[in-house]
Amino acid sequence: MWIVFIFALLTLLSQIGGCIYLLSILLHRRFKTRSQVKFLGLFVSLYLFCTFVITPPVAKMLGRKALPLNSNGLVIPNHPYTYLLNRHYVKPEMYRLIHESAERFNDKRRGPLKLRYLDANFPFINGFPLLPHRSHDDGEKLDIAFLYANRADHTYWDDRVSLTGYGFCEGPFQGEQNMPDQCRKKGYWQYSLLTKIFGLGSQEQIHFDEDANTALLQSLSSHPSTRKIFIEPHLKQRLGFGSDPKLRFHGCAAVRHDDHIHLEL
Ligand SMILES: [Zn+2]
Repeated sequence: MWIVFIFALLTLLSQIGGCIYLLSILLHRRFKTRSQVKFLGLFVSLYLFCTFVITPPVAKMLGRKALPLNSNGLVIPNHPYTYLLNRHYVKPEMYRLIHESAERFNDKRRGPLKLRYLDANFPFINGFPLLPHRSHDDGEKLDIAFLYANRADHTYWDDRVSLTGYGFCEGPFQGEQNMPDQCRKKGYWQYSLLTKIFGLGSQEQIHFDEDANTALLQSLSSHPSTRKIFIEPHLKQRLGFGSDPKLRFHGCAAVRHDDHIHLEL
C-alpha cells in the first residue's frame, strides 16, 4: 500500500520519480540488503542521475528542451526545486520565445535583468498534468515572475519574492476591476489560496515595477510565437494593454494572476 502511495506521489511531483522509486526497490532487493539508508542513497543517486544526465537529452529527442539551470544568463530558475522536480521543460519554440523576449526587453531597459521562470512542463507525454496547474501539460506553457524594484533606490530587485514565486500579489487599487473579490463571491475559494500560503514576502522593501513589467509584457506580446498571456484584468488595464487581444482573463476556476505571468504558445 505504501509503495503505491509513494509511487503516485513521486510521479505527480516529478513525473520520473515514481518509476525511479520502483527501480530502486528492484535493485535494492537484488543486492540483498535491508538497510534503509542504502535504499535512500540508491534512490537519490538514481534520481539525480536520471534528472540531470538521462532525461534532458531524451526529452530533447522527443521535442522538449530544459530551461537553463544556472543563474548566469537572462532566463534563470526562481528556485532549484523547479528543475530538481523536472518542472522546467518547454518546446523549443517556447525556449526561443522566452530567450528572444528577454534579450529584446533588456536592450530597451535599465541594463541586464534576469527573467525568473516558475513552473513550465514535465519532460514527457502530452496531457500529463503538472499539478496544481490546469494546463501545463504539453510543453507550450510557462509561468514567469513579475519584476520588482527596491523601494529605497528603485534598482531592480534581484531575488525571488516568495519561495515558489507564487502568491506575492499586486492586488487591485480602489476603483480597479477586482476579480479576486468577484471570484470569491462566486464561490471559487481557491482563487487566492496561494496568496494565503506563500504571500508573506518583502513587501516593505520592494514594489511592483510598473515600467519594467509594461516593457516585459510588450516584449512578450509582440513576439510572433506568443498566443496567450494570462494576467489579472486590473493589471492589464493599469499597464495599458486594454486592447491587446493576447492578454486575457483566465477564469475564476484558476488561481489569481497578479503574482506571475502565464505565457502560452
Ligand atoms: Zn501557468
